Amino acid sequence: MIQGSCHCGEVRFQLDWRIDELTTCDCSLCAMRGALMAKVPETALEVTTGEDLLTLYQWNTHRAQHYFCGRCGIYVFHRKRAAPDHFGINVRCLHDVGLAGLPVRATEGASMTVEAPDPCDRWPGPRVSPSGA
Ligand SMILES: [Zn+2]
Repeated sequence: MIQGSCHCGEVRFQLDWRIDELTTCDCSLCAMRGALMAKVPETALEVTTGEDLLTLYQWNTHRAQHYFCGRCGIYVFHRKRAAPDHFGINVRCLHDVGLAGLPVRATEGASMTVEAPDPCDRWPGPRVSPSGA
């Protein structure tokens, strides 16, 4: 059983999982938070304390659920967009886990579809300059 926590220790969780691969992601959120992650099935993750402090952040398609500690602000894990029955875990939050030597796979989150904040339900046609130029 792998133990993990946020920085302040209010949020604690454990993983019943053996990590054999790490991932990075080039989407704008993962790039900004510098995330190094491991993918685990939802049944392998148990939040043991501080669940009430978990704060949800969603953006873009609002399918992925990104959780961070509402006290110290550390990203702990997220329910994945492409595999909603799996979580991506911030492996920097894990205690006493040897990450050296594990392969790191770079995933291409930036190339996943992006939804406009105010999408149009039909194509409005080519833009026409009012001056006709
Ligand atoms: Zn915290």
